[in-house]
Amino acid sequence: MEPLGTEPAGLSLHKDFISKEQEDAVLRILREQLDWPDRKGRRSLHYGYTFSYKTFAIDHDVPYFPFPAWLAPLLPTGEARPPDQVCVQHYPPGAGIPPHADTHSAFDQLYALSLGAPVLMQFSRGEERKEVDLAPRAMMRMEGEARLHWTHGIRARKTDVLADGTVRPRRDRWSVTYRWLREGGVCECGDGRLCDTAQRRMGVERGYRWKEQEKETEAAAAAAQEEVMSSSAKGEEDT
Ligand SMILES: [Zn+2]
Repeated sequence: MEPLGTEPAGLSLHKDFISKEQEDAVLRILREQLDWPDRKGRRSLHYGYTFSYKTFAIDHDVPYFPFPAWLAPLLPTGEARPPDQVCVQHYPPGAGIPPHADTHSAFDQLYALSLGAPVLMQFSRGEERKEVDLAPRAMMRMEGEARLHWTHGIRARKTDVLADGTVRPRRDRWSVTYRWLREGGVCECGDGRLCDTAQRRMGVERGYRWKEQEKETEAAAAAAQEEVMSSSAKGEEDT
């Protein structure tokens, strides 16, 4: 693992964590042998405990699923124990993931292995922005600042513009994300903006993005309904 050397602190990369041959073999399995959910956009498969992309924490309604044999060579080796949760995701060209910080109380450090095409990942802390180019076969570790005080996400778009101005089309990408459960289930970082433990202690309900989105969808539906009603009322006037 090589520290990135710039912000965000706590981000390390291990380039060529696996060989091209290993990657090709894994991609064949990911493409041809796995039973992906039948939906458009980003798709996920879960091993170990299941991770909820609604709460960014463990989904305790789903039983533990043992790691398959093909996953063993892809597990990070620098930690005291294997991860508790592994999520494999497919990003078709154009797909992204909203900026988020994985739930502090649930998880400790995070690792992610990129496969297939490269992608730019956006890190943000307040007004600060940092883009990191994730190369295929590179293993990324997020801990400390990068893990707790920065959000990370991938823009939903068809191309990435690199630092030198090159426009790079998106292609199919897969990521394998590894998470370790946090001992004790509380985080002492005290970040009132991103830490669910800090927010709970302040009596604040965590502002989950999907809840906000649901509210927005409901508001949009209500507005559309009003429009229909007012136009039909107008129609009645006309007749
Ligand atoms: Zn925290």
